[in-house]
Parts: sequence; C-alpha cells; structure tokens
Amino acid sequence: MRQPLIAGNWKMNGTKASAEALLSGVIAGATAIAKAEIAVCPPFPFLSLGEQMLAGSTVRLGAQTVSTEPSGAYTGEVSAAMLAEFGCRYVICGHSERREYYGETDEIVAKKLSACLAQGLTPILCVGESLQQREQGQTETVIAGQIDGIVSRIGIDAFSRIEIAYEPIWAIGTGMTATPEQAQAVHVFIRQRIAGDSQAIAGKIRILYGGSMKAANARDLLSQPDIDGGLIGGASLVADDFLAICQAGD
Ligand code: PEP
Repeated sequence: MRQPLIAGNWKMNGTKASAEALLSGVIAGATAIAKAEIAVCPPFPFLSLGEQMLAGSTVRLGAQTVSTEPSGAYTGEVSAAMLAEFGCRYVICGHSERREYYGETDEIVAKKLSACLAQGLTPILCVGESLQQREQGQTETVIAGQIDGIVSRIGIDAFSRIEIAYEPIWAIGTGMTATPEQAQAVHVFIRQRIAGDSQAIAGKIRILYGGSMKAANARDLLSQPDIDGGLIGGASLVADDFLAICQAGD
C-alpha cells in the first residue's frame, strides 16, 4: 500500500540556530518512526544546512517553491537544478499562499511541476478551496478545476511522479481542521478524478492532507483510507509536535 508521507512546511520561519535545533530534533526522533516517510521543507537559505545535517538520516529535504525557468536573468528566483544540487527530493508547488500572494495560476504551477520533474524532483501539488467556495458548495468544482488545469497542461503520466496535498484554505493556520470525513470525501474525489484518466496512477498517488493538522487530530485524519500523509505548517516548527504527527502516521 501507499507509504504515508509527513512533510513539514516551515514557511518563512526560523533562524540558522533554530533551524539547526529543529533539524537535530527531527533527525533524532525520526529513528523511532518505522513506517512513515518524513520530509522537512525549510526556507531556501537553510537548505544547505539541511543537506549537510540530513546526510545519513532517513529524513528527506524539500523546498517550498521553485522557479518556472531553468536559469538566467530571473532575479530572486531559485531553479529546480539548484534545489536538486542541494539535496532536495520534494518541492511544494502551488501552495495557496503562493497562489494568493504571488499570483500563481494553474499555468505557472504546471510550469513549476515540469521544472521539478525535469530535474528528478518530486513536486507536492497543493489544491484546496476557500471557505466561501466551500460554503457555496463549490469545493469539488474548484478542486476539479485545479487538477484538470494541471493534467491538461502536463499530462496524466506526470502524476506518477507527483504527490498531491489537499489543503482547504480555511483550515491553513486557522486551527480549523477539516473533519476526517470531510477530508476523506475530498481525497476520494481527487483520486476518482485522477482515475478518470489513469486507474493505475490513482491507486498509487499519495494524497496528503494539510490544514491545522496536529498531534491531537493526526491519528483520526491519517487513519482515513485515502489520506496518505500530511503537509504540516505550524506544528512542523516544534520537533516534538511534528514527530508526534509522524508517529500517528506510523
Ligand atoms: C500549510 O500551510 O501547508 C499548512 C498545512 O499549515 P498549518 O498546518 O499551519 O495549517
């Protein structure tokens, strides 16, 4: 079956010293986690530190975004090749904060996914609806649009090398978690949408849940049959909290 993936999205938090302490804590605790795959996604300046410290550990390194372009005059951008060179395996793509604050459209997200795949990196594609969209009964329409907007651009076969994170925007950083039943229902919907193009990929693809997942609710969420892990924001900034979620996925 699908191995759970618990990935920490540190966002724009921390100092070199706190990143070092957090990495140390996660590395030490990860040795007790048998089943779940663990990844941390620090800010760009800490990736080199992550690469060095995670050498020899089972904990994987990821980045929070990537440039659509391979190289050149794109001030401030970081290419997929650079991330690969610094030991990244995962790249979060299309997080709702990037869609909202930096204008990332499905077209841009699709380019980022392609850039990652060309360098052997595994993108974590984020999808999710706003509170207003959920209240208006548009959740499935929004998610279908986000998935189709990528499939139509890069093809379904690419999804054999992509992870999906369902992150309801109303649950991110708010303390309002989707119930296990609400999350499971959307995960099933996503899997069925993928199955419409490829049954084989739908059976294998990991669909993570993200949105105020913490130790207290992780077990109930992760025990749902179509929830294959978690993308963890706030709770990934404290090693013990993050490890407790990893334990719940074990
Ligand atoms: C996220 O931003 O990916 C996230 C899930 O954040 P939080 O866990 O803080 O809700």
